[in-house]
Amino acid sequence: MAEFGLIELIRARCAIAREDVRLGIGDDAALLAPPAGHLLAVSTDTLVAGVHFPLLTTAYDIGWKALAVNLSDLAAMGATPAWATLALTVPQADTSWVADFAAGFAALAREYKLALVGGDTTQGPLSITVTIHGFVAEGAAILRSGARVGDAVYVTGTLGDAAAGLRCLDTNDSEANRLLTAPPGARASLIERLNRPMPRVAQGLALRGRATAGIDVSDGLLADLGHICTASGVGAEIDVDALPSSSALLALFDGEARRTFQLGGGDDYELCFTANETSAANLLGDLARSGCAATRVGRIVAEPGVRIYDGAGQAVTLPHAGWEHFA
Ligand code: ADP
Ligand code: MG
Repeated sequence: MAEFGLIELIRARCAIAREDVRLGIGDDAALLAPPAGHLLAVSTDTLVAGVHFPLLTTAYDIGWKALAVNLSDLAAMGATPAWATLALTVPQADTSWVADFAAGFAALAREYKLALVGGDTTQGPLSITVTIHGFVAEGAAILRSGARVGDAVYVTGTLGDAAAGLRCLDTNDSEANRLLTAPPGARASLIERLNRPMPRVAQGLALRGRATAGIDVSDGLLADLGHICTASGVGAEIDVDALPSSSALLALFDGEARRTFQLGGGDDYELCFTANETSAANLLGDLARSGCAATRVGRIVAEPGVRIYDGAGQAVTLPHAGWEHFA
């Protein structure tokens, strides 16, 4: 099956009807009608095989993750997802692989009524680029630059699971046996966090007008909170003992390994945000009711940089932290 068969296969699964899609897949460009009074929020993320997902990842999970990481960027801005384009480079025209990929992409797209409106299909080493478009009312977007000294720092969900999941897949690791014989389900649940990240779209929408700054945690909390601090001209202190951990992470890894995953590991796709602590109570209640509670993990201070302390106030240093693509 050649290029057009693959495109038709993807279209059949992912092109949902939306009134604001005047013309979707099939012409030289899509024609789209953004709502009046809103800004378009546009973001692109590329996944390269072996870099952004392990080579053995299933096609379904790759399709899911390609959309999830893009939805996560819109979530961090407080934008409502609407449309996406997909640039897909595959080594060969493998119909069943593309069908599974499209099924993973479509599962998440349906959940957010997101329409795939175009793209490009080429042959080469496996690589997926999604460009996502969403809407946010003028003035309502959550930026990295709004954190103020005295704000508290929060994260949604739990941290470190995806990095721990990646470690679980590393069969050369001397820990492999210990991990395989660990409590049933724990290893699988960490790997699931790596392969099927849940974008915090509803939570991002709840943050509008309430968080002072926000970012999604794709490169590790230290690195991503560092971006908020740089953009806002402030610093931050993290209480490492306050970081939220899943029961699977607690079951499989000791304190030091957990800290490394939670502060330096990427791929969690939780939201990190800052807010005035005294006015955040309502927001925290709404997040908890949304099914993804947020936890206070630190505070914004004047001195630049991100510093880590334990619950007793002792400074903590890490060997290395944060995913750097060109490191
Ligand atoms: P052109 O050569 O004019 O760019 P293509 O043959 O590449 O057109 O694509 C035909 C139609 O299919 C276009 O509407 C394009 O946006 C869409 N398309 C191509 N590849 C994909 C893809 N991977 N996902 C979604 N739409 C795609
Ligand atoms: Mg054309």
